[in-house]
Amino acid sequence: MLLDTYGRVATDLRVSLTDRCNLRCTYCMPEEGLQWLGKSDLLTDDEIVRLIRIAVTRLGITEVRFTGGEPLLRPGLVGIVEQCAALEPRPKMSLTTNGIGLARTARALKGAGLDRVNVSLDTLRPDVFKTLTRRDRHRDVLDGMAAARDAGLTPVKVNAVLMPGLNDDEAPDLLAWALDHDYELRFIEQMPLDAQHGWKRDGMITAGDILESLRTRFTLTEEGAQERGSAPAERWLVDGGPATVGVIASVTRPFCSACDRTRLTADGQVRTCLFATEESDLRGALRSGGTDEEIAGLWKAAMWGKKAGSGLDDPSFLQPDRPMSAIGG
Ligand code: SF4
Repeated sequence: MLLDTYGRVATDLRVSLTDRCNLRCTYCMPEEGLQWLGKSDLLTDDEIVRLIRIAVTRLGITEVRFTGGEPLLRPGLVGIVEQCAALEPRPKMSLTTNGIGLARTARALKGAGLDRVNVSLDTLRPDVFKTLTRRDRHRDVLDGMAAARDAGLTPVKVNAVLMPGLNDDEAPDLLAWALDHDYELRFIEQMPLDAQHGWKRDGMITAGDILESLRTRFTLTEEGAQERGSAPAERWLVDGGPATVGVIASVTRPFCSACDRTRLTADGQVRTCLFATEESDLRGALRSGGTDEEIAGLWKAAMWGKKAGSGLDDPSFLQPDRPMSAIGG
């Protein structure tokens, strides 16, 4: 198993399938985009499936989350999901997406074995969406969510980031809308993982701000730590439940002591943490005839060195070179 020196065991694998994206969210990357990974740097579909197979059959991984960049841009996505669904034991599989193109692919992904989706949507206002993402695709995202729900990729979880002066007044509206559509809403604190390195702690909307805003319209009752387990989101029952709302507060209420995540980048690097500044290469071993056992050994060694937490509160905190768009949620 993927154990670290703090006794945590990673059972949740996040796989970035590409660093490319078809949106340009202001809190993530510049308008012109980034220098994308070259084709030969990217893992092939077969290499990705092999690494996931090693993780599931040799390293105790029980959950796989496909991320990006935007994973729907990966041409072989459905085939990768299909092959992973055939693994024994079968991992639970989910996808984190911006929803663009989901209306077209939801049924095929469900048919291939995907269980559910997380879709990013920060606003109900198309004009604000255009300002935030620099693309006029709000309708596509809403259609994508509805298609995912109708295809049975449920629960459809919605990830929303609030930005000062743009959509920070929308928390209660977003929750009311999510309740009406049977979506599970989670707010995510903005993290210092943007490519521009422009993040400022005093410039972000905190979990406290979000809860205060929601309480202007809803009664929130905190769910217990037991219900939470290792999930990143803290959850509150809304108006007595059963509906809930979540907040992922990596900055102001970190949850690293129960972290069960390990990450694989699109170019075959293991990241022990979202904020890791070091990575361990598996692609080299894959492409030089390494055995499954050797690759599993490299992965274990990498996770053994996982740090206690994000280090965000540490004055010596250094933002990782690799941006969120090349790590994935
Ligand atoms: S910051 Fe790192 S250690 Fe903490 S919960 Fe996130 S991935 Fe895990």
